[in-house]
Amino acid sequence: MAGAGEKVDYVFKVVLIGDSAVGKSQILARFARNEFSLDSKATIGVEFQTRTLVIDHRSVKAQIWDTAGQERYRAVTSAYYRGALGALLVYDITRRQSFDHIPRWLDELRAHADKNIVIMLVGNKSDLEEQRAVSTEDAKEFAEKENLFFLETSALQATNVESAFQTVLTEIFKIHS
Ligand code: GDP
Ligand code: MG
Repeated sequence: MAGAGEKVDYVFKVVLIGDSAVGKSQILARFARNEFSLDSKATIGVEFQTRTLVIDHRSVKAQIWDTAGQERYRAVTSAYYRGALGALLVYDITRRQSFDHIPRWLDELRAHADKNIVIMLVGNKSDLEEQRAVSTEDAKEFAEKENLFFLETSALQATNVESAFQTVLTEIFKIHS
């Protein structure tokens, strides 16, 4: 981790999108601070959090943006997407509707973001296997068709959260370094 005063070679903006309550804010809390809360209130105020990591001997500051409860259709403003080089497109594996809305989020993202944006489809809450409503195969198939990376995560158990961000940031690095 780069401390105060250390040199940052790159700053990459990554946005979190997806329906309300799929776990976006907890995924970010896990990645940025290694924290998790089961009774997280609706996201308030804070626009983004950062974490600096090293990729290929370079210091990369990830600036991760979280929606402040603007998940209603088309409520996320273009300022949110502006300059984003990566996105985590999140659904909840226990809520089919959150997966059915993914094409809509993808359209929004593609309409507003950089044309080379790196997108990771994320099926969160993989710890709730007994309540699963979206099969891994369906999601994988969709991701392949749309050219997205895909992982199932659990912010609660800290499963694949690190990998999801690492993959996106490494791909961004390959494109922009
Ligand atoms: P957001 O609206 O997309 O930002 O969702 P939140 O991060 O606020 O999470 C919504 C709810 O789901 C909260 O009660 C979280 O504690 C819970 N949650 C988030 N991630 C997970 C997870 O990986 N597993 C489980 N079991 N619950 C989660
Ligand atoms: Mg939130």
